Amino acid sequence: MMRGAFFLGPNEMALRDVPVPVPAPGEALLRIEACAVCGTDLRILSGGKTRGVVPPRVLGHEIAATVASYGEGAAAVVGLPVGTRVTLPPGITCGACRFCVTGLENHCTRREAFGYKYDGGFAEYMLMPAHAARRQMLFTVPNSLPAAEASLAEPLACVVNGQRKSQVTVGDVVLIAGAGPIGLMHVQMSRLAGARAVIVSEPSPARREQALAMGATEVVDPTVHDVGDVIRARAGGFGADVAIAAIGVPGLVHDLLRWVRPGGRVNLFAGYAGAGEATISANLIHYGELVVTGTSACTSEDFRVALALLSEGRIDAGPLVSHRFPLAEVHEAFDVTRRGAGLRVVVTP
Ligand SMILES: [Zn+2]
Ligand SMILES: [Zn+2]
Repeated sequence: MMRGAFFLGPNEMALRDVPVPVPAPGEALLRIEACAVCGTDLRILSGGKTRGVVPPRVLGHEIAATVASYGEGAAAVVGLPVGTRVTLPPGITCGACRFCVTGLENHCTRREAFGYKYDGGFAEYMLMPAHAARRQMLFTVPNSLPAAEASLAEPLACVVNGQRKSQVTVGDVVLIAGAGPIGLMHVQMSRLAGARAVIVSEPSPARREQALAMGATEVVDPTVHDVGDVIRARAGGFGADVAIAAIGVPGLVHDLLRWVRPGGRVNLFAGYAGAGEATISANLIHYGELVVTGTSACTSEDFRVALALLSEGRIDAGPLVSHRFPLAEVHEAFDVTRRGAGLRVVVTP
């Protein structure tokens, strides 16, 4: 038997003991080593954004695992020995649709995902269906990278996607709004990309401290100071080269448009609740010739880059893991995430 945390309906999740899945031909069985709690998990559980998740379903898509066993024929297809430490992007893509073949596989028209359509990582084992095993979506995790940190490859891959869209480059002044785990990843990535100044706007003193520790050159409390003034003081009287929204506050969009220089780049990284309606002055984009991009999920190439950055210690995910809970305390793990009491919260069965 194995234990899993099953989403049963809005605000209902329960630990259940069920038989360990036996992989059918073509399938792979993973033993979960770590699964991080994502804001999306909270939105599904609260019933706000179920994305067609049909209960009972094990949530969790930020996964580090070990290959436990294979169904007939799967070992040769996947090509990794039993016992290999792995992580994986949550999205199972078709590889054949218009978006898959043009490098936009995160927009695959037949995209399915673990923790949504298939059982995810808040359990002791997870079954990988045959069509997913055929997609070669398991990435090997080196022994030097702890499972809890490897589970952050998925959010980091999304950040890699956002950084590509933002085109942070040598000498840039970058403004990052929000210093949660995602904002802190953007801080590290922006420094890695050569930004000369990374200014972080964040109301929480503890998170501002974290941002400084992770490479922010300046932090500002937006409830006390004018962020635009801070940017202009650093950028020779002009706006930032790049502004990234790492928190989903619609009202912030107009501010980000005001805070970049002519020709500057604005990336709306974080998702917005509901319709996400915001009032902006479209002329800021028109006259300023601004480039506004969005970011949603990641491609397997983003994932490969993210895991390499973690594996080689170029991005330090250690301090981003603030809490660890055993599976039996999965509810507490969700509560801590909901309260924003820490950074990334990881469940380790
Ligand atoms: Zn996530
Ligand atoms: Zn596709």
